[in-house]
Amino acid sequence: MPDAAAHLPFFYGSISRADAEEFLKLAGMMDGLFLLRQCHRTLGGYVISMVFNLQFHHYPVERQLNGTYAIMGGKSHCGPAELCEYYSKDADGLCCVLRRPCNRPSGVEYKPGIFDNIRDNMMREYVRQTWKLEGDALEQAIISQAPQVEKLIATTAHEQMSWFHGSIGREEAERKLYSGAQPDGKFLIRKRKESDSYALSIVYGKTVYHYIIEHDKSGKYLIPEGTKFDTLWQLVEYLKLKPDGVITVLREACPNGNVSAGICAMPPSLPQTRQQSTNFDGYTPEPSSAGEKPRILPMDTSVYDSPYSDPEEIKDRKVFLKRELLLIDEVELGAGNFGCVKKGVYKMKRRQIDVAIKILKMQGDNEKSVKDEMMKEAEIMHQLDNPYIVRMIGLCQAECLMLVMEMASAGPLNKFLPAKKDEIPMGNIVELMHQVSLGMKYLEEHNFVHRDLAARNVLLVNQHYAKISDFGLSKALAADDSYYTARSGGKWPLKWYAPECILYHKFSSRSDVWSYGVTMWEAFSYGQKPYKKLKGNEVIEFIKKNERLSCPAECPKEMYDIMMDCWTFKMEDRPDFKEVESRMRVYYYSIANKTEDLATGAPTEKKTA
Ligand code: ADP
Ligand code: MG
Repeated sequence: MPDAAAHLPFFYGSISRADAEEFLKLAGMMDGLFLLRQCHRTLGGYVISMVFNLQFHHYPVERQLNGTYAIMGGKSHCGPAELCEYYSKDADGLCCVLRRPCNRPSGVEYKPGIFDNIRDNMMREYVRQTWKLEGDALEQAIISQAPQVEKLIATTAHEQMSWFHGSIGREEAERKLYSGAQPDGKFLIRKRKESDSYALSIVYGKTVYHYIIEHDKSGKYLIPEGTKFDTLWQLVEYLKLKPDGVITVLREACPNGNVSAGICAMPPSLPQTRQQSTNFDGYTPEPSSAGEKPRILPMDTSVYDSPYSDPEEIKDRKVFLKRELLLIDEVELGAGNFGCVKKGVYKMKRRQIDVAIKILKMQGDNEKSVKDEMMKEAEIMHQLDNPYIVRMIGLCQAECLMLVMEMASAGPLNKFLPAKKDEIPMGNIVELMHQVSLGMKYLEEHNFVHRDLAARNVLLVNQHYAKISDFGLSKALAADDSYYTARSGGKWPLKWYAPECILYHKFSSRSDVWSYGVTMWEAFSYGQKPYKKLKGNEVIEFIKKNERLSCPAECPKEMYDIMMDCWTFKMEDRPDFKEVESRMRVYYYSIANKTEDLATGAPTEKKTA
């Protein structure tokens, strides 16, 4: 995740106090000259270093629990940029106002902190171990859930570290440290029984020393009288650099016995509770205040990874499923021109999974053609495997032809949103639409055009997990083709179609981008119908007049800007999904840094653009 200040020209990253003073000296030492750097003690904190009367002043800026930033005792601001902006107008306790940014000299990049690198590695290890993911599924989990995972890591990562030994006593700690070699700085951390504190046990001169690590009321970790840290692992990393009152710097971890590559395989406490929710995909109202149980992440659900990612299940996977392994429920999930979609259960070798079954209606005349269509849909779906796309489990030919799919039980986005409007903050919609862009980027990379992307075809697993569905109109492009030409117009969703689809029957990933823009518009207007006053065939005239859907109320400007770019008339000038996904990601991460919207699902103050 990029630093929230990464874009500021006067942000230097993880430089020392001495280096900061050197830069200020070089820039001339005038009153109000300032720069911003990373704080080494707090997670996401900064320091403002500035000059007044030829003297240096350093003000720590903390990231508070609710995600805002403040100088001790000062007002809260939603980001470091906003905070600096504020103090450039009002000194409000500082030695003077921030008058002149000391920008990085050309050629000087901001310096990533050791925590930035650690955090990325840790995130990867944490996701890999907690959800047993590899390859693409792992990458997609990291990209789509970075803000949430980062928060989990901050508070629980120490449980995964090789130096963390859980709740062992002092004697046991000594026994472990005295066994084998006893180099200076060999250490471990343990939880003290019946207290909220921890202990650091460290070898020096063949003797073990113990230090209490307090966990104070504000949630900070400290060795009494010492520096305070947001997390235990930051304290450890810091003590590796500076002894800070302890007898020696920390060097070699005394491993807890279950180590693999520096990270222990001991089941951490949080993932255990997460495992229990594995099969819970449904929607539940979310806790309303911060600090309660973490919410269900896509990786916690049973539909994140393919059921066939299990080697036992893939062994003799067949496209046609045995009818006796399929239980069809009476409950109807939805209907279409082809027939209906019912709920069901499919018995796999090692587990049973909930499925949605698209059942073909038998209707004499055109039976062959609808059958062919469903076979085509199945053929496309069979080739796709992505966490943000509804997967096909297989086909079943029995009383009728059936397409068996993963279940997305919270239903289509256009129905979900109006019903839950008050419980869904804007940040939640950004998160879902980012997921849709990830799924679409996957289709683009694999040369598939969807041709029916719309909110009605985005199905929700739960409030924080979306999947693209309905491949009834989709096409696989030949390797060197960038578009598909439809021979004749059909029952087309014209309001979602780009001009070249309507005018020349030309379909490509770029025309899917146009539809993505309309889908975004539906999402940010909480399920409204697009171009309400127009008929399908009137929309193209409207577009030709260079008119577009207007910005939904309360939709952030950054999101409307992306929609407008998706509606670029000429397809060559329109962004592709690679770009759309990256822009969605930047905005999604930036608001995740600033608000608790995503962490708790609790409605926060809504901001207009
Ligand atoms: P159509 O081609 O007629 O639009 P869809 O594939 O969009 O058919 O399915 C119609 C409806 O069935 C959806 O709107 C949804 O309510 C339900 N449905 C389809 N697939 C699933 C699924 N995998 N999980 C849950 N519900 C589904
Ligand atoms: Mg549909």
